[in-house]
Amino acid sequence: MPRVIYLDNNATTQPLPEVVDAMLPYLREQYANPSSIHQFGQNVRHAVEVAREQVALLIHAIPKEIIFTSGGTESINLAIRGALAMRPDKKQVVTTAVEHSAVLKVMEQLEREGYTVHYVGVDSEGRINEAEWNERLTDGVALASFMHANNETGVMFDVPRLAAIAKERGALVHVDAVQSIGKVPVDVTSWPVHLVSMAGHKFHGPKGVGALWVQRRTRIAPMILGGSQERELRGGTENVAGIVGMGVAAEIAKREVDQSSPSSTMQAVRNMRDSLERGILAAIPIARVSGGQAERIYNTTNISFEGLATEAILILLSEAGICVSSGAACSSGSVEPSHVLKAMGLSDAVRHGAIRFSLSKFNTQAEIDEVVAVMPKLLARLAGLKG
Ligand code: PLP
Repeated sequence: MPRVIYLDNNATTQPLPEVVDAMLPYLREQYANPSSIHQFGQNVRHAVEVAREQVALLIHAIPKEIIFTSGGTESINLAIRGALAMRPDKKQVVTTAVEHSAVLKVMEQLEREGYTVHYVGVDSEGRINEAEWNERLTDGVALASFMHANNETGVMFDVPRLAAIAKERGALVHVDAVQSIGKVPVDVTSWPVHLVSMAGHKFHGPKGVGALWVQRRTRIAPMILGGSQERELRGGTENVAGIVGMGVAAEIAKREVDQSSPSSTMQAVRNMRDSLERGILAAIPIARVSGGQAERIYNTTNISFEGLATEAILILLSEAGICVSSGAACSSGSVEPSHVLKAMGLSDAVRHGAIRFSLSKFNTQAEIDEVVAVMPKLLARLAGLKG
């Protein structure tokens, strides 16, 4: 494979070698069904339970609160639908205008089914309108669902504050922490929430495996019916290799998020992100950062090149071996203007030229320097083509 500079880590991350090594035996020799009574099956069951402990430890949970799923999207669907099924008397839901489509599409379907969904807005930096959040959370609300870190801008919501308001009004609370778990410390015992979604592939685990944390006193209904796996909340033979890989990724992430010295992995990634941002802003006058004044996760920056088109920038960067993303949804190869930047009230010109750079610990400062050096030349070419 030709060398690439991979700055699309909010889409997915490179699995760690330790993760792949841990998975392989469960694809080759250890293929028994973890529900089988024989010793062969029980050995595999043990591996699944070790992974459950590793994932639980990452977020300070207890293992039986972890339900393995096929990824972030399934966890979110199970959380929202599973919670609402237990509350048939209440037909209102509160969420935000900047959620991932995994949440928004479920909300749209709920509206078609007769629910009233309130989409709380954000300011021009992507910070939630707390007054509106407060106002929307009335006693008639069954569920509040909001994200921890935004996948497009990195802007973070204050989970304890928002959740406390929702919980106090009697709502169940779900947090989409797909972009934060494994990257920043998360202690679910300090969050007044009931349900938290996560995905292994966002923190150097494999794709197609995720988990939903279900607080131990919270009852939800299953969405996938079948066998009695995952405490009857998710039927179907487990993705054992994926679960084992996610467990190892969680254990390694835990060591990193627990570090507090300034030389930690997180700080190193933040330094690279900041240097990328500074370099681009200094070299390219049309560049502006979206959400830069808000509290953001340390690996993400969303930079708009006003007047240029996202697709054209993506293609030019791709030809130069630089992988970035629009951050927004893509359909049939073209980029749909971001609903997140729209909710922030940003102009069409800003939204149409937005690029998301998302870093990981596998990036190097030399890569960042290279991107900062080539971007002005590439964009000058584009601007020239336009003129
Ligand atoms: N939620 C957020 C904030 C995400 O960024 C993503 C993936 O990009 C998801 C949910 C969906 O996760 P998955 O692709 O693992 O289903």
